[in-house]
Amino acid sequence: MKTYAVTGAASGIGAATATLLRNQGHAVVTVDRHDADVVADLSTPQGRDQAIAGIQEFAPVLHGLVPCAGVAGLTGVDPQLVASVNYFGAVELVRALRPQLVAAGSSAVVVISSNSVTCQPAWDHGLADLLLADDEEAARAAVAELDAVAVYPATKAALAWWARREGITAEWLGAGIRLNAVAPGVTKTAMTDALREDPTFGVYADAYPTALDRPGRPEEVAEVIAFLLSDAASLVIGTTIFVDGGTDALMRPKGLPVSDQDLMGKMRF
Ligand code: NAD
Repeated sequence: MKTYAVTGAASGIGAATATLLRNQGHAVVTVDRHDADVVADLSTPQGRDQAIAGIQEFAPVLHGLVPCAGVAGLTGVDPQLVASVNYFGAVELVRALRPQLVAAGSSAVVVISSNSVTCQPAWDHGLADLLLADDEEAARAAVAELDAVAVYPATKAALAWWARREGITAEWLGAGIRLNAVAPGVTKTAMTDALREDPTFGVYADAYPTALDRPGRPEEVAEVIAFLLSDAASLVIGTTIFVDGGTDALMRPKGLPVSDQDLMGKMRF
């Protein structure tokens, strides 16, 4: 039996991940704003401190961490909240819980990226670099006047690139901690239900093509997260696995960057 922590575990992909890990016989500490072992708001440094202390109390030794809590970039959503929850609410927890992950001897972290990184047109890669500089105040100032929809993929790129950058280092891999990311596509959760209702962006909810012709289920994403957490993934390091029913393959046939125009041309309205 191993011990894992999952944030955003009250709903969607986080909830499915916690359930799967428990069904596999593991102990899971859940974090969320409600309905969790540790109730905390990951949008603020104080809330994160509460989450970290709560996890440490439950789990002095941690075999894996899935910082899954996230906020979508919908109409009326504060772009600064998207930056703070999605990037800092994940990476700061991972960093602070490194001693507990080291204590396990062998452990893994799976951050939740998104196929919006490669499939959503027109977002600024420089924003992801700014997030990776790890100055929350500067990042929040930079995104303050932007639409949340343009900030979301930057936060998800920053998470994937963070796992890539740090995953190969002595600090992480050398300490027995594997860092990876999953990039879900449209997955049926409260988040995408809200997207569907959005007055501006609702049309995009079903516009991204999938080879399966259906959205993903949170349980299907959880299976891949659980694999990455497991010893079966011992050779998988610093990478991102797309779990999107083929959307990325449809939109970027060679896996290379394509133009915004090409991406728009592949959407089905
Ligand atoms: P969801 O809305 O069902 O669940 C998100 C959870 O995060 C909720 O329980 C919410 O309370 C929690 N949360 C949000 N803000 C928080 C905060 N400040 N502090 C603590 N908890 C907070 O969404 P989901 O679809 O399951 O998304 C889970 C993750 O997967 C997110 O990071 C999301 O960006 C990512 N993702 C989702 C999809 C999708 O299509 N559903 C696609 C790609 C990536």
